[in-house]
Amino acid sequence: MRTTQPRLRLLHFFSRTDGHFTPEEIAERFRLAGEPIPIATLYQNLRVFSDHGLIGEVIGHGGELRYDANLTPHSHLRCNRCGVLMDVMLSLPDLQPLGPGQDWQITGARVELQGICPACQEAFPIPVL
Ligand SMILES: [Zn+2]
Ligand SMILES: [Zn+2]
Repeated sequence: MRTTQPRLRLLHFFSRTDGHFTPEEIAERFRLAGEPIPIATLYQNLRVFSDHGLIGEVIGHGGELRYDANLTPHSHLRCNRCGVLMDVMLSLPDLQPLGPGQDWQITGARVELQGICPACQEAFPIPVL
């Protein structure tokens, strides 16, 4: 992989975050920092990073593709109200599929849990029926 200024800046960005960002959100951060990167360059470099396993991909609340700097195996908690994504570790004792797939050797799992984050619970309490 060639080393270019935008790539170095992007690597630096990902080394200092644990969030999950769309290309537009990353572009906005660089713009606000006074160091804009053209969106086309950003799209292209994010794809290259992802293809090289330097960043992960996760689908966000609205079906949008987000990039994930956390490369350790982890699962996600996603809020159904505000869409916030959080990295979590799950202890999953037995993930062997029942029925089709049961003859596979399972080597890992990535689970997406959905729920309501604490901030949203406070803002919009669910009435207890
Ligand atoms: Zn929320
Ligand atoms: Zn993540």
